[in-house]
Amino acid sequence: MATMPLGAMLSVGDDFAGRLRRIQEAGFSTMQLSRPPDEWLEEPRRSELKQLIADSGIRVTSVAAIYAGESYADIETVRSTVGLLPEETRSARIEDTKLCADFAHETGASNVSSHIGYIPEDRADCDYAGLVSAVREICDYLQRREMSFCLETGQEPAELLRQFIGDVGRENLQVNFDPANMIMYGTGDPIEALAVVAPWLRGVHCKDGEWPKAEGQLGEERTLGQGQVGIERFIAKLKGIGYQGPLTIEREIAGERQMQDFLAAKKLLEQVKADLGIG
Ligand code: MG
Repeated sequence: MATMPLGAMLSVGDDFAGRLRRIQEAGFSTMQLSRPPDEWLEEPRRSELKQLIADSGIRVTSVAAIYAGESYADIETVRSTVGLLPEETRSARIEDTKLCADFAHETGASNVSSHIGYIPEDRADCDYAGLVSAVREICDYLQRREMSFCLETGQEPAELLRQFIGDVGRENLQVNFDPANMIMYGTGDPIEALAVVAPWLRGVHCKDGEWPKAEGQLGEERTLGQGQVGIERFIAKLKGIGYQGPLTIEREIAGERQMQDFLAAKKLLEQVKADLGIG
């Protein structure tokens, strides 16, 4: 298998077959998927979806659990709506993560990833204990399928993430590192953060973005290479820590522009890999 094979993050939904064909024709060998909408998880569409994926020959490396009612409008809205943090939806979202895990397992993916929401800085916060318990339950469910659970980075500093992973205490809890999120949420330099979470690194998103312009706001996402991540130094650092897993391009827009950005990012990453002698 190639070192750092290139992938794309695809949402399952409108014209999935067409978008899948485009990334297949472009030569991507891996992909991450988002949790399919409910109607795609019911038969016969569930089987049709799995057949499409199998026929593409593209390896599914991860399925991202996303939850109904989430909004990324600004930092306060993220805090109140995203992931497993909001107490009132926590139980239902744990169960939904298990549904997502079953689908992921059927596609051959080795992990499920998620933004679990803001991890409280204070260990004595009751939501901290709630999150630890929720993540343990999900990890244990995945462990029975020999899968792991990956925390998507961005909403907290790397040191807090490291502490939280230790407190959960499950070997199949890992990290999907998104350098753009660290910048867009203003949580720290992604290259320094990468060194902190390196022992748990399972996947990465190749995404770009800008630092927030004001307190309480999120920075804007950018086409890969046009933001403030510094994608060359990011890939060089990945090489430096011995990462060999997939580079999954993420672009959080839809339509033809997303596809064009996938293709441009693929070209850019191929050049960076060649420059760094990554084969
Ligand atoms: Mg991401």
